[in-house]
Amino acid sequence: MEPRELIAEAVRLATESVDKGWGGPFGAVIVRDGEIVARGQNRVLLTGDPTAHAEVETIRKAAQILNPEAPSIAEEHQNESTLEYVPRPEGSPDPVPERARMLQGCSIYSSGAPCPMCMSAIYWSRLDAVYFSCGLEDTRRIGFDDAFQYEDFRRPLDQRRITIRQIYPELGAGAYEAWSHRVDHHAY
Ligand SMILES: [Zn+2]
Repeated sequence: MEPRELIAEAVRLATESVDKGWGGPFGAVIVRDGEIVARGQNRVLLTGDPTAHAEVETIRKAAQILNPEAPSIAEEHQNESTLEYVPRPEGSPDPVPERARMLQGCSIYSSGAPCPMCMSAIYWSRLDAVYFSCGLEDTRRIGFDDAFQYEDFRRPLDQRRITIRQIYPELGAGAYEAWSHRVDHHAY
């Protein structure tokens, strides 16, 4: 499919979400080799889940489709990882020799510019590229202030809208040590 068709499909999903009262006007598709792997749309109003953004929904579906063997969280699955690992690229400054492939090789097409949460999910997914139709200022004009969050991130911690403070760092260190000391820990 061509980029214009992919954006049009993201916009179709966005409009459907509005028409059905499921959420805001946001839709997305994840694409590999020109073919759609997964579709998603904003369903915040339907689910009451503030993280039910189009991009996050699409990433979750794509991850399930591309890693169909991944078990759900359960004790009996301990020590299992079905993820595919790939070596770091030549010349990469990454200190870790290999990481989970995640959604490398895929791109996301979105009806609107991703908010910071979705953009962060895109980084964690290791998607190759993001293409969007409406910009952050367009989104602000219809009453969704994603742009404000990008602005807030640039402020020092003590000037942010939401209280954020480091407390008791020595307690959290225990979990970090457990990870560091685990011989077969898998980087992702
Ligand atoms: Zn978002």
